[in-house]
Amino acid sequence: MATKMNMILSIIWTCCWIQIISGNPAEIMRQSNKFGPPLSADELNCIPTFNKSESNPALNHRCIQHDNKNAYPALKWPKPFQVPYDIDSTFTARERCVIGHAMKKYHNHTCIRFVPRNGESDFIQINKLNITGWDCNSLGSGYIDGSGAHTVNFSPQCFEIEPATAMHELMHRLGFDHEQERPDRDNYITVIYENIPADWRPQYEIAAGSTALLQYDYSSVMHYPLVDRMKTKKNTRGVEVGQHRGLSKLDIMKLNLMYCKI
Ligand SMILES: [Zn+2]
Repeated sequence: MATKMNMILSIIWTCCWIQIISGNPAEIMRQSNKFGPPLSADELNCIPTFNKSESNPALNHRCIQHDNKNAYPALKWPKPFQVPYDIDSTFTARERCVIGHAMKKYHNHTCIRFVPRNGESDFIQINKLNITGWDCNSLGSGYIDGSGAHTVNFSPQCFEIEPATAMHELMHRLGFDHEQERPDRDNYITVIYENIPADWRPQYEIAAGSTALLQYDYSSVMHYPLVDRMKTKKNTRGVEVGQHRGLSKLDIMKLNLMYCKI
């Protein structure tokens, strides 16, 4: 209990620190302060299409971290079959399709269900950011009892390449951080810090004392691509490191292990 409380206090403190220092950037950049209708069955079942691009979305999304752990079993949502959400009113039909498609993957493969908010005080708040560049983030990881809006923020560019970004940010909100931060990651990758801008290095720091569920997964939706920032220590022939399509088999197993007890 003490460990859990220390973790929660640490996360709350970090959130407060960010807001004291810079205000709440997500709130400032929100396109709207209104919420739209919940995603319909058609939107949950839609299949988005994407234009191929030279840019690498996983290197351009920013995940705001409040701890150095990979998985947070102590911060899981208390009712996985009823994770309430509100969604910004200004998402386009296509953007709603991408978010719906991401949610449906969780519904299809786990016991987790994202459901329209019905007065719950703690909920996932899906915001649209009024900026032109990439900014896709989860303002924290997992569930914090009594903290109200658990925000996930998307700028329009987050929806342009492949569906993994929406799944990635939702997985942060469900209590997972990046695969390349696991405490055992040094057995699997070498991080090349000199190639990483200083403000991005926290996304590559090892997570001492964290919970690493199941085996290391190069193909996790939570693993960044290698580019020139990491190299592997294992034979990964035939394995796409840092893929952008969606939940891997191990992602699904980890979600089920944490939430569904199977
Ligand atoms: Zn992330």
